[in-house]
Amino acid sequence: MADWLPLFHCFKDEQFIIFGGGKVADRKARTLIRFNKKVRIISPDLTPALQELVDSGKVEYLSQPASVDHIVPRALVVAATDHKAVNAEIASWAKAAGCQANITDSPDLSNFIFPAIIDRSPVLVAISSSSTTPALTRYLRNMIDAALPRRLNELTAFIAKLRVDVRQRVADTKQRQSFWRKLMSGPVPDLVLTGKEAEAQLVADKALADNEGKQGQVFLIGAGPGDPELLTLKAVRLIQQADVVLYDRLVSDEIMDFCHPDAERVYVGKARADHAVPQEGINQLLVKYAKQGSTVLRLKGGDPFIFGRGGEELEELAQSGVPFQIVPGITAASGCASYSGIPLTHRDYAQSVRFVTGHVKDGSADLPWNELVHDHQTLVVYMGLSGIASICSGLIDHGMAADTPIALVEKGTLPEQKVHISTLADMPAYVSGNSISAPTLTIVGQVVSLHEKLNWC
Ligand code: SAH
Repeated sequence: MADWLPLFHCFKDEQFIIFGGGKVADRKARTLIRFNKKVRIISPDLTPALQELVDSGKVEYLSQPASVDHIVPRALVVAATDHKAVNAEIASWAKAAGCQANITDSPDLSNFIFPAIIDRSPVLVAISSSSTTPALTRYLRNMIDAALPRRLNELTAFIAKLRVDVRQRVADTKQRQSFWRKLMSGPVPDLVLTGKEAEAQLVADKALADNEGKQGQVFLIGAGPGDPELLTLKAVRLIQQADVVLYDRLVSDEIMDFCHPDAERVYVGKARADHAVPQEGINQLLVKYAKQGSTVLRLKGGDPFIFGRGGEELEELAQSGVPFQIVPGITAASGCASYSGIPLTHRDYAQSVRFVTGHVKDGSADLPWNELVHDHQTLVVYMGLSGIASICSGLIDHGMAADTPIALVEKGTLPEQKVHISTLADMPAYVSGNSISAPTLTIVGQVVSLHEKLNWC
């Protein structure tokens, strides 16, 4: 973790003292002048360009070698001489005087650095590589600069003006944050950036009017099996807009990073033995937040309608008259199958696929065995890790060949994914002999043999 904390500091009367009269001093002096800072340069000589700057009266200049007497209280000291030893000495003077210092090429002696800047005032973008790779910083600066819209100033002015109106008409802070979140992810920024300000104003006015009679709603969203890139576009858009997000264990931190920084995040658990909030409590929370007028997201791993209890949560909402929408997600079976190169159906091996839950009760899985034992059918077992021994023996006891291939996909689609392949007869011993952790999906059937050829992760 970098030690550098990016801050925008409002310097007013502070004196910047630059030791050095070369190119680096020139660059730093020009940055400071651009931001109207008081700059004094101390150096026995100057480059012609710096001399010109001095002659223009924009900086003060003392034609002297560096000395401790040049350090004044509260000054911001920049050491940019060509001599490392002199720069280090300046650093020690600054430190003794309690001044902040920027020592060229010595981040360890510095306590402030000059970032690369994109200046679209009042918007400022500052980029730093924490003094490690200035070339990369400049590269990124150019990339970001090119990506920033040309009419950014117009957008800034539009929003600043609208802000006054929004402050008056939306009194509650949270509601205001929510209003802005939605406005900024809608068409308004684009309209302003393409010069259609009048149209943008109409949309904003309508949004303000709608907001006054606003009712909360719930989005039940499938977050997919783990890889954030498997989220749907709709899921990402809604996650970014939500006021409140109720999420469970299978939703990764990277996915939660899409949430707006002001959104309220509520962890409701859902590991087998860890229900941070019991199901009934989750249902009630959803209703409570929605009735407060919030946009509430119920974010679930995989697809909410596949072993996700999504249905139960919606029934409560329907009864309470809270409007809701559902966004499907990629279920673990699809994610794990693709990322392990095991097609769930294949003309030569399986014409159908069956999803079951292998959750064990009293030590054994309670499954409709006769329906599961079929040639040319792939069986996908969710939540089957703890009951793996009873699942394998149950299938063999009901006629499935003991050498049928079986795969356990551990942490499917995530960087830590592992695919464990065995047979029905051998998998229980394999699981006891290896440390395999949840979430794990089990795939049984001849299609598993394709993993060897199609594995690509
Ligand atoms: N609604 C979810 C399933 C919830 S049940 C979905 O559609 O995927 C939880 C089970 O899903 C876990 O026990 C595991 O069997 C499976 N699962 C979820 N994510 C997984 C992943 N990344 N890798 C392997 N299995 C996963």
